[in-house]
Amino acid sequence: MGPTDKPVDLDYYANAGSGEPVFVLHGRDRYASGLVRLWALLRHADGDDTASVAEALLCADTMDNWACRLGRKAGESDERFEAFYVVATDGLNEHPVGFQSPCYCGKCRPWKLSAATGQ
Ligand SMILES: [Zn+2]
Repeated sequence: MGPTDKPVDLDYYANAGSGEPVFVLHGRDRYASGLVRLWALLRHADGDDTASVAEALLCADTMDNWACRLGRKAGESDERFEAFYVVATDGLNEHPVGFQSPCYCGKCRPWKLSAATGQ
């Protein structure tokens, strides 16, 4: 994870087993940032290590910035992933730090319900 011009703390290629399949997403891929955010949410929900989740969310933001440099709309991927984010965050007490996309965790849901009902 991370930009190709900056070193990252977690080197997934080095940590992969010999012959282990690895899937790479480029920042230019319209679904990359959304898939990375969804992965981060699922790992967060599993209680997995917060450093990997934080790094993934930072990477997703960087991917969005990259897409903007290519003339694409910021958050374009979120529109396609919103329903998945809602499902992935429903039942969580809170979303991971750095997650700014549509969410239905316990921290965000009361605000959304009050906004919807006007109370
Ligand atoms: Zn939330």
